[in-house]
Amino acid sequence: MSDVAVIGGGLVGSAVAWGLAREGAKVTVLDEGDVAFRASRGNFGLVWVQGKGEGMHEYAAWTRKSADIWPELAAAIGEEDGVDVGLRQPGGVEACLDDQEYAEAELSVKRMHNQPGVGGNDVRMISAAEARELEPALSPDIAGASFCPHDGHVSPLYLLRGLHAGLARHKVDHRLDHKVERLRHTGDGFVLETARGTVHADQIVLAAGLGNGRLGPMVGLDVPTAPDHGQILVTQRMPKLFSHPIGRLRQTEEGSVMIGASHARIGYSTELDIATSARLADRARRLVPALGTARIVRTWAALRIMSPDGFPIYAESETCPGAFVVTCHSGVTLAAAHALELAPTILQGTLAQRFEPFHFKRFAR
Ligand SMILES: Cc1cc2nc3c(=O)[nH]c(=O)nc-3n(C[C@H](O)[C@H](O)[C@H](O)COP(=O)(O)OP(=O)(O)OC[C@H]3O[C@@H](n4cnc5c(N)ncnc54)[C@H](O)[C@@H]3O)c2cc1C
Repeated sequence: MSDVAVIGGGLVGSAVAWGLAREGAKVTVLDEGDVAFRASRGNFGLVWVQGKGEGMHEYAAWTRKSADIWPELAAAIGEEDGVDVGLRQPGGVEACLDDQEYAEAELSVKRMHNQPGVGGNDVRMISAAEARELEPALSPDIAGASFCPHDGHVSPLYLLRGLHAGLARHKVDHRLDHKVERLRHTGDGFVLETARGTVHADQIVLAAGLGNGRLGPMVGLDVPTAPDHGQILVTQRMPKLFSHPIGRLRQTEEGSVMIGASHARIGYSTELDIATSARLADRARRLVPALGTARIVRTWAALRIMSPDGFPIYAESETCPGAFVVTCHSGVTLAAAHALELAPTILQGTLAQRFEPFHFKRFAR
């Protein structure tokens, strides 16, 4: 019997469970394991503010909030569990290859600025010369860039490791290979059935990524999400080429350059598409000519978890109070907000009020 059972031990479930356990709750985490789709092990690692929230100013502010408190999360994981998640927030440069890309980026920045409630993201367009001052490795042929001083990146795998270390230290009952098959609301709590036994909890948090869509209706939660395929290329380790994440390029602490990530709606498939790899590689070497001779050593695809409007879904069930859903497509960026801000609201019983704009009722409207 636990206070809260979290279904899903990816970045979203782990961040929420970490925050709940830190507040003193008795927590169980159930995770399906390696056979599941796991975005948390295949993502790009950006803590990214620019471009987030067009159409929902609350999401723009929430993303900015998370970026602001990210250093607190990284410090806690470092000090409490000795894991350096490699957080760097030097600002992010989204370089534009030609005038058309620049014009589109400029329009998007203007639309965001004109949206009431946004303005805290501080994104601005910069000239090619200014972009190259920030990052001399950028091609002289770029048309310019957008720049956001709050953007950064981390190692998503060290983040997952650090969160899991925190769960272990807080004595969270973290069970791998425990796919939840059925959920029941019994009146005085919840019963979670897995092939390897049954777990009881006062409250449950659905953080099962693409698995939420099947589980949600069992406890009155509608979670309309779809897979969005993203492909990434990784180069050999290289001498330091650039220090800012350049949108779809980032150099890791170890020296590899990650190139990505594409977007495609092809269903529940993580197959690689060679033409997409070629497009990613071509764009990368046009942006940063020094990448033209880099050797690609790894590539993979993973699935983002996308709601119909692309914004997170946070809600408590009306028919089964105590059942919550937490899902988003930027679980790295939002990890700090999930751990330090959202988890406590679940325990305080204030999630419904505080996160009303993120409820799935918005899709019915
Ligand atoms: C290519 C790519 C690039 C990305 N880049 C970025 C980025 O730069 N920055 C950023 O912020 N975000 C990025 N993301 C998004 C980010 O990776 C996700 O938002 C985040 O990983 C989602 O975490 P999650 O825990 O919700 O989902 P997942 O990682 O998919 O985890 C869900 C977990 O639930 C478990 N599960 C499923 N069903 C059940 C069940 N029935 N019972 C028990 N367990 C279950 C699975 O085992 C799994 O571990 C990217 C994603 C992709 C695919």
